[in-house]
Amino acid sequence: MDQKHIRNFSIIAHIDHGKSTLADRILELTQTVEKREMKDQILDSMDLERERGITIKLNAVQLRYHAKNGEDYLFHLIDTPGHVDFSYEVSRSLAACDGAILVVDAAQGVQAQTLANVYLALENDLEIIPVINKIDLPSAQPEVVKKEIEDLIGLDCSNAVEISAKTGKNVDQVLEAIVHDLPAPSGDPQAPLQALVFDSLYDSYRGVIAFVSIKNGTIKPHDTIRFMATGAEYEVLEVGVHTPKEVTESQLNTGDVGWISAAIKNIEDVRVGDTITNANQPADQPLQGYREMNPMVYCGLYPVDNARYDDLKEALEKLKLNDASLHFEPETSQALGFGFRCGFLGLLHMDVVEERLEREYNLQLIATSPSVIYHVYKTDGTMEPIDNPSALPPAQKINRIEEPYVRAEILVPNEYVGPMMELCQKKRGEYVDLQVLDDIRMQLVYELPLSEIIFDFFDKMKSATKGYASLDYELIGYRPSNLVKMDILLNGQVVDALSTIVYKDFAFNRGNAMAIKLKELIPRQQFEIPVQAAIGGKVIARTNIKALRKNVLAKCYGGDISRKKKLLEKQKEGKKRMKMVGSVEIPQEAFMAVLSMD
Ligand code: GDP
Ligand code: MG
Repeated sequence: MDQKHIRNFSIIAHIDHGKSTLADRILELTQTVEKREMKDQILDSMDLERERGITIKLNAVQLRYHAKNGEDYLFHLIDTPGHVDFSYEVSRSLAACDGAILVVDAAQGVQAQTLANVYLALENDLEIIPVINKIDLPSAQPEVVKKEIEDLIGLDCSNAVEISAKTGKNVDQVLEAIVHDLPAPSGDPQAPLQALVFDSLYDSYRGVIAFVSIKNGTIKPHDTIRFMATGAEYEVLEVGVHTPKEVTESQLNTGDVGWISAAIKNIEDVRVGDTITNANQPADQPLQGYREMNPMVYCGLYPVDNARYDDLKEALEKLKLNDASLHFEPETSQALGFGFRCGFLGLLHMDVVEERLEREYNLQLIATSPSVIYHVYKTDGTMEPIDNPSALPPAQKINRIEEPYVRAEILVPNEYVGPMMELCQKKRGEYVDLQVLDDIRMQLVYELPLSEIIFDFFDKMKSATKGYASLDYELIGYRPSNLVKMDILLNGQVVDALSTIVYKDFAFNRGNAMAIKLKELIPRQQFEIPVQAAIGGKVIARTNIKALRKNVLAKCYGGDISRKKKLLEKQKEGKKRMKMVGSVEIPQEAFMAVLSMD
C-alpha cells in the first residue's frame, strides 16, 4: 500500500475511559475480526488482562479501512495500558506511532492519566484527535468535557467526535478523522533500514520475536540484520503483521508495524528501544530510543520449592523480553533460601509479574514485602543504596537515611478536597499547591514519600473520594527521614524476609498492627509461637499464636478412611503456598501483611 495511505496511531486514555472498547468497535467496523470471532476487549490477549479488565501489554494490529472518499487505507492500531504503573508501555507504543486518539469519558472528564498520556504523546510529536466517549450515559456532559479539554490541555475540540464505544454510535466518524486528521508516516523507503524495536517476546520454537515499527527502508526474509545497540547480527527468517492473528508477509515497508523472526536464541541480543538496521547497508545512526525506566518498588521472589531456582531464573529472563521495565538480580534470604530481588514500576506491576510467572511458567512463588530504594549514608562517609530492609547496616554505622519523594498531582472534585488533604497529611505529605480547575474540580499538589504512595494509597484515595479522584506522580529526589528497621521475630528468631523500614513515629503502631496481622495469618501449629516486633533488638510489640488444641485427625478416629484422606489432601492444598522458616510454617499472605495495615 502507498505510504500516503498508512496511518499509525494509538488510543490513549485514563483507565476505564473506553480504549479497549473503542478498539473492539474499530476492529468490527473494519471487518478485521469477523463477528463470530469477536469477544470483548479482543486486544487484551493475556488471560490476566481479560480477568482483571485492564490492559497490561501493548498490542499492535493491522487493519484495512475503505474510507468514504472511496480509497483504501492501512491502519496500525496500538492499544495501550492506562494504569500509572504501565506508562512505560505507553511511551514505547507512542514512539511507534504518528498520531493518537485521546479518549475522554463524557461523565468523568479529564483525569490525571489523561493529562499524563497527552504529555507523552506531545513529547513524541504526535497529532492528537480528541474523542468524547460514553455519550449514552445519562450523566454524560460532552460540552462540559470538551471545554475542560480545551482549558486544561489546549486541544481544539470544535470538531471532537462524540461517541459511544459501547453502542458503536459515531465510531465511523473516528475512522474518518484518522484518515483526514492524522499524518501518514514520513519515512524514506529508499533509505537504509531503521526499525524501532518496541516490544519482543520469546517463542519456544522460533526464539525471540521482535515487534518493530519500520521508520525507514524495508525488511524481508534473508536480509542480514544488525541490532545497533548490541551489534548482534542475524538472518531474517520471516516477517509479518498481526491482524490480530499472526500473518506472514513477503516484506515490511516503511510505515509498517509488524514482527520479525530470525531464530534469535540469545535473549540478550534484543533490547526494546534498540534500532534494527541492515548489516550490508547500515544506517549511520540509531533511532532515538526510550527513556530507561527505573524501578520504584522492589521485592524478593522465591520459589516455594527451592529446587526450582533455575526455572525461576529462566522465566524471569524470558519475561523481561516482554517487559523491559522488569529488573532482577539474585539474592539469598536466611528464611527463604535462594531467590531474586526484583524491581517494578509499581505495586500493580509487581502483582502482574508475579502472576504471569506463576501462570505462564508454572511456578509457585513467595514474594516478600515490597520496599523502595533507600539511600543510606554511613558514618564512614559512603552512601549505600538499599532495596532490601534486611540489608540495612546496623544503626551505629548509619549517619542518616534518605528516602525517595514524589510530587503527586491529584485531580479531585471540590467536595472531596478536605478528605483528600487529610489523607495526604496522614501519609507525611507536604502541601505544595491547590488550584481551581473548573466549577467542579481542583488540582491538589503534594510532595510525599514514595513508600507511603506505593502501599495502600490508591485504595485509601478511592475510599476517601468515592473513586472520583485521580493521581499521577513523578519522582523528585531523595530527602532525609527518620527511618528505622523493624524486625519481626517468630519463635524468638528474626525472619529476615519480614523486616521492613518504617518511619520512626509510625513504628510503634505498625509493629503492633503487624504482630496482630501475623497472628491472624499464620496457622496454629503444635506449639505456641511468640510473635514480636523489634527495633534494634528492643521489642516494641508482642503477641502469641496459640498451639493447636488437638489433632484434626483425631475426629476421624476409627472412622471412614476416605474422609481422612480428604482432610489430609485439604491440608496439603492449604500448604501449597507455605514456607517452612525454622520451625514455623509461614503462608504467602504473611509476607504481604505490611500492605494491608493501618
Ligand atoms: P479501558 O480501560 O480504557 O481500556 O476501558 P474499557 O474499554 O475496558 O472500558 C471500561 C468500562 O467502560 C467497561 O465496563 C466498558 O464496557 C465501559 N464502556 C466503554 N465504552 C463505553 C460507552 O461508550 N458507554 C458506556 N456506557 N460504557 C462504556
Ligand atoms: Mg483496556
